[in-house]
Amino acid sequence: SPERKPLIAGNWKMNGLGASAPEFVRVVGAYMGPLRNSVDLMVFPPATLLTSFATSTRGAGVLVGAQDCHAEPFGPYTGDISAEMIADAGGKAVIVGHSERRACHGETDAQARAKAEAALHAGLIAVICIGETEAERKAGQALEIVRSQLEGSLPDAATPKTVVVAYEPVWAIGTGLTPTIDEVAEIHGFIRGELARRFGDEKAAAFRILYGGSVKPGNAAELLHVADVDGALVGGASLKADDFLAIANAAA
Ligand code: PEP
Repeated sequence: SPERKPLIAGNWKMNGLGASAPEFVRVVGAYMGPLRNSVDLMVFPPATLLTSFATSTRGAGVLVGAQDCHAEPFGPYTGDISAEMIADAGGKAVIVGHSERRACHGETDAQARAKAEAALHAGLIAVICIGETEAERKAGQALEIVRSQLEGSLPDAATPKTVVVAYEPVWAIGTGLTPTIDEVAEIHGFIRGELARRFGDEKAAAFRILYGGSVKPGNAAELLHVADVDGALVGGASLKADDFLAIANAAA
């Protein structure tokens, strides 16, 4: 859609050491060319690399972010990182409600929403993840799960500039499986409709809705050209600059 610039976001998860910086620097370097006009790029390294990655973007336009944040700005929360700290380290965005946080750390919609609110308060873009499990899809509950996660996880203050929705069917993450084009179109259209019910048509039309789950160079063009798919959240394939850039070029 012309009014929604595609966004390709790379989630490195718990991968990456200082020695991985050259891969990121290659992405940044390539982005200095024509790609920058047609696609937005974000990279979410582990928190240990946030400062060095944020420094090495040097105004290149690639936004760097964190993979999670605490809902409070500071306090006795050992091991956690706040949205303020992410902003202070040069981060511009944060992923909240990722299915791995929901599954491994028991995060709820209410927590994802509180984290997204904290992100907005700190001036960060919140990339809010939702998506059904395999059992939920098989039981015919995909739309209802997505509806309730969307309602529960998005702050009322969400705007198209401050919030990105990522639809990530849990069964497609890291499995090599993807929904059919028709299934992606159905869910993304449904999400757009739910956003319109809550925020009005005009605002809903401007939100970016990413697809995530086993996006690779070989399937990116097909997935990215589905109506209401405004980009991708990429896990595994974001670790290699060539693959990530091929996906970004498929969005251009
Ligand atoms: C993700 O974890 O956000 C993701 C989409 O992972 P992958 O691309 O590896 O399936």
